Amino acid sequence: MTKSELNNCPTVRNLQRFLHESETKGGTLVLSRDAVKDIYDLMRCLIIDEVQSFETKTETVFSELGETIRNVNKANGWPVLTPEQRNDIQGIATRIALMHSELSEALEELRKPGGTDWDCFTTELADVIIRILDTTHQLGLDMGTAVLAKIEKNKARGWRHGGKAI
Ligand SMILES: [Mg+2]
Repeated sequence: MTKSELNNCPTVRNLQRFLHESETKGGTLVLSRDAVKDIYDLMRCLIIDEVQSFETKTETVFSELGETIRNVNKANGWPVLTPEQRNDIQGIATRIALMHSELSEALEELRKPGGTDWDCFTTELADVIIRILDTTHQLGLDMGTAVLAKIEKNKARGWRHGGKAI
């Protein structure tokens, strides 16, 4: 909801009128049941609007990152997949192996004598995300929607997803 839409919203106008009337009656604000209902409805609309905006931004960010990664890798001479190559199981398996290799690099960073370089550790995990988004974007898979859907699903999984130890 834009600021202009908010200012023109009947509920907001009602609330502005309530506030104005209370100021002219000495500043004591006594809310009627209708006013409380208006506030509830408005807050609900704003929260829903904010959640939808967050979801749209998240989907867009994943998609834009995937496109940028694809373009950088293509410019560096790496092969680019297409959605038609979803049946190239060997090719996709190779990419999954490379995702694993980045996780291993992060693990090795933790094992280094003398302590972990946390910048290097973060970079290795960034490599994991880059490889995942590179592959999914090229195959036409919607990671933004998938991540949001999985977060929603996890909300209903309960305490440690059914009492798992780790
Ligand atoms: Mg790496």
